[in-house]
Amino acid sequence: MDEIIRAVAGGGFVSIAAISSRGLTERAKNIHKASRVCTAALGRVMAAASVFGSAMKRDGASVTVRVNGGGPIGTIIAVSDNLGNVRCCAGNPEIELPIRPDGKLDVGRAVGKNGTLTVIRDNTESEPYSGSTVLVSGEIAEDFTAYLAESEQAGAACALGVLIGGDGAVRAAGGYIVSLLPDAPEDVIAAVERNIAETGYVTSVLDGGSAEELISRVMRGLEPKILSRDAVEYKCGCSRERVASALAGIGKKEREDIIAKGEDVEVTCRFCDAAYTFSPAEIKKLKIVVDKQKII
Ligand SMILES: [Zn+2]
Repeated sequence: MDEIIRAVAGGGFVSIAAISSRGLTERAKNIHKASRVCTAALGRVMAAASVFGSAMKRDGASVTVRVNGGGPIGTIIAVSDNLGNVRCCAGNPEIELPIRPDGKLDVGRAVGKNGTLTVIRDNTESEPYSGSTVLVSGEIAEDFTAYLAESEQAGAACALGVLIGGDGAVRAAGGYIVSLLPDAPEDVIAAVERNIAETGYVTSVLDGGSAEELISRVMRGLEPKILSRDAVEYKCGCSRERVASALAGIGKKEREDIIAKGEDVEVTCRFCDAAYTFSPAEIKKLKIVVDKQKII
């Protein structure tokens, strides 16, 4: 089961959110027919988006993460609701790249590093808050660490990973985000840094282990106290109405062509495998709605 566990440690000076997200990463891989390297990229972005999203309080709130590094995968978008349920898409999720000399998937090259990481928090109450940082490596975790350093006052570290087995299935996925209060004592900071270095790759812990084990490793000697434990999954909130409103935005010529052709149009959601069929008569109705809006 995929879950996010939150804990405090080090006398309250350190907080950690760890996620195990094998299932939702596998689901994304299947929906998008993603290659190994793209599954790894999507899995890393989704894990962070889910942790960010689950920290939002209000029902209906969401966090959107956009990674636009100029690499062959194209723009990656992951959206999480306030429960940490997440969905994603990418421009070219099927592209594959050679394995790096060290045996790792070349996520950095797939994503590219000529661009930005953007996090948009929408609490449904006020204007969405958007923060952006220049990509460091395209490896995602380093980029989120840079984002957190720039956008938050406190020190933070992020580790993310996706492990894909020889059969192509996702064996492990997830990671953690650690935050330190600005006045955290030196010995607490040193302990966190040492633990992070000793923990190494998150997938080596999550492969057969759990998010809780990740917390006990990274917070070793700091008496972590678990605050919450929440199940998360790959979830898309699309509906016929939403797809219809997106369809209403297509060009006038395209719409007229559809109507003239007289054939049903199938629209597939870009975040999930749901398909919606619209008849030419329905398309025609959408047109009227759009034109009315234009007049107003
Ligand atoms: Zn959908």
